[in-house]
Amino acid sequence: MEDVQRIAKDVVETVAPYLEDVRVKVNTSCSQLEGWQIIAYTFGLTLILVSIYNFLFDEEKSLKARVKKSFFKFVKNLPIVKGMIQKEVDKNAKGVQESFQNATGGMPYVVQLPKKGMSEQQIMKELDKYQAMVEIDWSKGNVSGAVYNGSNELTEIITKAYKKFAWTNPLHPDLFPDIRKMEAEVVRMCCTMFNGDDNSCGTVTSGGTESILLACLAYRNMAKERGIRYPEIIAPITVHAAFDKAADFFHMKLTHIPVDPKTCKVDVNKMRRAINKNTCMLVGSAPQFPHGSIDNLEAIGALGVRYNVPVHTDCCLGGFLVPFMEKAGFDVPIVDFRVPGVTSISADTHKYGFAPKGSSVILYRNTEYRRGQFFVQPDWPGGIYASPTLAGNRAGAIIASCWASMMHFGEDGYVETTRKIIETTRYIADKLSKIEGIYVLGKPDVSVVAIASNDFNIFRLSDAMNGLGYSLSALQFPSSIHLCVTLLHTKPGAADTFLNNVRTCAAKIMKDPNAKCGGIGAIYGMSQSIPDRSMVSQIVGLFLDACYNTKDPEDSDKKVQKTNGVH
Ligand SMILES: *Cc1c(COP(=O)(O)O)cnc(C)c1O
Repeated sequence: MEDVQRIAKDVVETVAPYLEDVRVKVNTSCSQLEGWQIIAYTFGLTLILVSIYNFLFDEEKSLKARVKKSFFKFVKNLPIVKGMIQKEVDKNAKGVQESFQNATGGMPYVVQLPKKGMSEQQIMKELDKYQAMVEIDWSKGNVSGAVYNGSNELTEIITKAYKKFAWTNPLHPDLFPDIRKMEAEVVRMCCTMFNGDDNSCGTVTSGGTESILLACLAYRNMAKERGIRYPEIIAPITVHAAFDKAADFFHMKLTHIPVDPKTCKVDVNKMRRAINKNTCMLVGSAPQFPHGSIDNLEAIGALGVRYNVPVHTDCCLGGFLVPFMEKAGFDVPIVDFRVPGVTSISADTHKYGFAPKGSSVILYRNTEYRRGQFFVQPDWPGGIYASPTLAGNRAGAIIASCWASMMHFGEDGYVETTRKIIETTRYIADKLSKIEGIYVLGKPDVSVVAIASNDFNIFRLSDAMNGLGYSLSALQFPSSIHLCVTLLHTKPGAADTFLNNVRTCAAKIMKDPNAKCGGIGAIYGMSQSIPDRSMVSQIVGLFLDACYNTKDPEDSDKKVQKTNGVH
């Protein structure tokens, strides 16, 4: 955008000598016109100029992104290219479908309701068959993130809480005062954890993504009130994709700010320079998902105060670690409501809060911000409709289970799990940094360790680890992989077994560092080099389609192909 403006300026300077000419010509040609005609033409021309200006600068997506998109759309519609793409797409689709079918062991799909309902016993027998499909044993700490606790004791507690409140629904606070109280208490306990004062508030949501969507929605609505057409989010490039989703859903612009390549923390100076009249929020992560470093939220908060822009702390991942780190004996930067500019915080109870999936909280400094996410339709024939979050009816049972987890652990419990998890992460990071051929990216401030390599394609390492029953997360730009440490990795021996396996795999790869990479590595290698990102989206769409495939395999003895690595 700045480039375009600079070019426009150059053009103006070179045409200046011609302007005099133009003036004379305009005057001569206008000498025949009547006053009303001049007014009408001026009006018409202004309209055209305003539309051109809007097309160039005042759109949701930058001009560069729109030009690029149109160009690729044009190329992709050329018949020869179209054919080639279709062939590639079909091949990919088939591969993904086959791998899913292999994973379900060729068990036929249920495609209609059973004619006769099943007894509990029959259902349980069926469910056991489904459960037998699982191959990777997450309970041994082989998986990055995904399952954060998994203990039998906690499973008992949360399922008992679920059972008690199975039919509750916070949409009806009059019917279910119990669940209303519990939701309010979950929010308040979190506000206290993040050092919010009496004015701090929030809601329980269905997950981190919803918490983030709601914060963006609230700030968008506040910006719209002030007359901003395309409110703009300014966030680090490492921020969670849920912010891209929010920008997409709510017609906002998202400007990504680069991070320092050494620390992987956002460059706050660049963030400051990106602030403009459309900016409706700044974001920092604590920590960010890819490399696990905590952005400098005190500096971002200061920008927020100085430019009067709300600041969101994405503490989805760190929600139940960061608030306990100090008590667990670790240094940790301040990222919560104690930072003057921070106006909202997202924290996932369903990650390190160990609640079942489907719960998170969004917190605000005061109710004015929270009001931005509420939806009220006063004119609906179905009654005055009001809902605090994206959903209408909500599962009270999930809130009850979340409440039960939090009450079960208590502050001491979370301090203890935090101590174990951070200690294990730092131990793993330290040992990984000593393995030849790989290096640790940024500084693992909390529970994530990301590694990359200057000597070989790092995805070969993740393929090799897959072969040993591990599942690590693939990252891109730059190519890297990470382990998100959960309570399961803190079990005695789990970290050392992991490290030994990495050591062995890396040593093997180092014997022939330039060998070709197959599997997930080949996919990520290829996908990162495709300039038309919409192609990648198209292919990933096939993956999502395949998740819902219920056609039985044509021939089930096709070779097994793994497809993990896409979140
Ligand atoms: C997990 C996560 C989110 C999104 O949460 P979901 O529960 O997947 O919706 C957002 N930000 C960060 C840093 C996360 O790790």
